[in-house]
Parts: sequence; structure tokens; C-alpha cells
Amino acid sequence: MHQATGNGMTSQRTRLRMIERLREQGISNPLVLDAMSQIARHLFVEPVLQSRAYDDTPLPIGQAQTISSPYIVALTCELALQGTGSGQKLGKVLEIGCGCGYQAAVLSRLARSVFSLERIAKLVGMARGNLQSMRIGNVTIRNIDGTHGYPREAPYDAIVVAAAMPMISAELKAQLKPGGRLIAPVGMGEQQQLVLVEAGEVDGELRYTERVLEAVKFVPLLSGVS
Ligand code: SAH
Repeated sequence: MHQATGNGMTSQRTRLRMIERLREQGISNPLVLDAMSQIARHLFVEPVLQSRAYDDTPLPIGQAQTISSPYIVALTCELALQGTGSGQKLGKVLEIGCGCGYQAAVLSRLARSVFSLERIAKLVGMARGNLQSMRIGNVTIRNIDGTHGYPREAPYDAIVVAAAMPMISAELKAQLKPGGRLIAPVGMGEQQQLVLVEAGEVDGELRYTERVLEAVKFVPLLSGVS
């Protein structure tokens, strides 16, 4: 059978079981659940790992990096969307840490345009190939160090960071629109927390509120391009 339709562990039914599990884990935004039921996650991992693509676990994608678990992708997408009205999509989104492009593909269904940064050239090639074969046209991937965000396209409705940073810099927050949201794992090694930053406007001035959500485990944000 053709890879895109899949069989057994990679079928639509397996994907729907993943969606059921996400619901049980508390994910409720129908746009997120719908996007994740449409994007074939198994096509983002190597053939030998495809039977595990819908398990709730990160998986290796080469270059010592991972594809984030379905729950983490769903949670961070849902948090990004909470700034919009019910059923409404995002305008412009920035992702830092594209990896193989899975979350960028999910975000492509949730936003008008997505900019995704990845420091490892090999992964940029892999992600671009994956998105092209799915005919996803609203994602732009750049092979750059995303530590400082991507001011050229700012401001963003949401910024989703997929690698753990020691702190959230003022320079990154400044790339949010008023009402925009930034979601990032903060911390080193095993001590990481998912943090949500909201940009609010008080008397014409931007104010940022930060909330610590839950313990998480991401690969570290590294500097430089390779
Ligand atoms: N979004 C991916 C997760 C990939 S893991 C998914 O859908 O599963 C995080 C990625 O962040 C890795 O590919 C890693 O190379 C990348 N990364 C780490 N530091 C970075 C930096 N400073 N700039 C851009 N990408 C970075």
C-alpha cells in the first residue's frame, strides 16, 4: 500500500486513537484535534519508527534531535490559539526549532502563515521535503539560529519555542503583537517548565504576564548554525 495512506499502525484509525488519547489528556480545541487528525505524523519519521509514530512519545529524527510527543505539540498549539476567539485561527506564527517539520505542518492548519527556524541544515532539508510532499504552502523555513527570534517578520500572534531556553529574553517578547502569546520550555537539563507569556496592553504600553504551566523535557536550545 502507498505510504501516504499507510496500513496497520500508520492508518487513519491509529491516528484517531491518538486523537482520543489527546482528548483524555485534556486537549479540547477542535481546530487542534482536527489538524492533528489530518497530518500524517508517521511520514515525519524514518520508516523503522513509523509503527510508533502515534504513540505518546518523542522519537529520534537524526542529528541527536527529536520529534516532540503528540501531547506536547497539541498542548503548545492549543495554548497558542487561546488568544483568539473560539474557532478562530491565528495570523502569523513563529516556531523556533522546526526539526522535521511536524509541528510546523500542524500550525499551517491553525494559522495564516508560519515562519519556522531551525539551526541544523540537514533538518531544514528534511522539513522542507516533508512539507512540500504534503503541498503545504504557508510555512517558510529558515536555516538560522532562532535564539533571537525572527524580527524581520515580527510581530507575531504566537511564538512557539520547541527547544529549552535558559530564560525568555525581552527581545523575544518584543516580537509579540498585543494579545499575542509565547510558549517556551524554560530551564536546563531535567529542570524545565513550560512557560506561557501573554502580551497585554495597558494605557498604550505593552505588559507581559508570565505563567509557569508544567514540567516538561525538551532538547536544549543551542547557538549557531550547523
Ligand atoms: N518542532 C519540532 C521539534 C523539534 S526538536 C517537532 O515538530 O517535533 C527542537 C529543534 O530545535 C531541534 O531540531 C533543534 O535542532 C532545534 N534548535 C535548537 N536550538 C535552536 C536554535 N537556537 N535555533 C533554531 N533551532 C534550534
